[in-house]
Amino acid sequence: MSALFDFVRSSLILKISLVSFLCIHLPLIVAGLHILSGGTSDGETMLLLLLAATLAGTLACLGLLWWFIRPLRDLALAIDAYRQEGVVLPPPALSRDEIGLVWQATAAMTEELDLSLKRLRQLADSDPLTGLANRRALFEGGAHDAERALKRGDLLSLILFDLDHFKSINDDYGHEVGDQVLLATARTITANVRPFDMAARIGGEEFCIALPRTSPDQASAIAERLRVKLRGLEIPPLDQGRITASFGVAHSLGRRTGLKDLLVEADEALYAAKNAGRDRVICLASNVKDEG
Ligand code: GH3
Ligand code: MG
Ligand code: MG
Repeated sequence: MSALFDFVRSSLILKISLVSFLCIHLPLIVAGLHILSGGTSDGETMLLLLLAATLAGTLACLGLLWWFIRPLRDLALAIDAYRQEGVVLPPPALSRDEIGLVWQATAAMTEELDLSLKRLRQLADSDPLTGLANRRALFEGGAHDAERALKRGDLLSLILFDLDHFKSINDDYGHEVGDQVLLATARTITANVRPFDMAARIGGEEFCIALPRTSPDQASAIAERLRVKLRGLEIPPLDQGRITASFGVAHSLGRRTGLKDLLVEADEALYAAKNAGRDRVICLASNVKDEG
């Protein structure tokens, strides 16, 4: 019996056929029961009984059909919520019929789509060699947060640095060693910034770190720490001290400025650090200088 019940529940066509059959025949069933139970069979009573049974059958039919079909409407709403807000589809609650199957397949498909989108987004936003964010992620994705923070008047500092004489590492020891240096640089950054800082490799051997809620002195101190750590790296066959970098620091202290302006200023400071002999940190706007 329960197997039959399960079988009927799992088929929308069977459920609709059964409900329609019962509701259409409700007047006949009611009239039959009325006669069998010995009720009066005058024309007027019979007509009223049939009318009432027809009305009840029609309402029951409409209500049950609406109840069967309702998960389709919920599914459409869930798909819309996913499209607009990325809310992953919940599993179907009761429906085990064809609509439930469509729901399950759609939920599985959106879950896979969601995973693929996340993977693609991560690929599009990260530098394939070091795994850090890339220029696009920093200045398009990260820029929105930074610009919002800057508009609110929050402090933002920017560190821009470039490895010194990196080309000669490639030329003298090969591209492989150059890549190892870039990887070690990325690891050094990751180990020395805070979770809310955003670090990116924005060029061949050029890196940028956005530091929210960070004063120029703090940013310069972080840059100085990085400079010392890079200098201390030993990547065979390179001697310790061969890997150095020049740093430019810019900040938004005391003014409203944009991320792009900060980048231009950090670039000027970096250029000044290169011209001053490399392996040093320069923060132009606040005249903080740390000689290497
Ligand atoms: P400076 O001190 O003035 O910055 O000199 P530099 O030699 O570091 O700068 P330059 O711009 O002359 O050279 C950068 C080099 O970085 C050239 C390029 O071959 C190398 N490079 C860029 N991307 C990669 C990469 O992904 N891997 C490796 N190994 N080298 C790269
Ligand atoms: Mg360089
Ligand atoms: Mg460069």
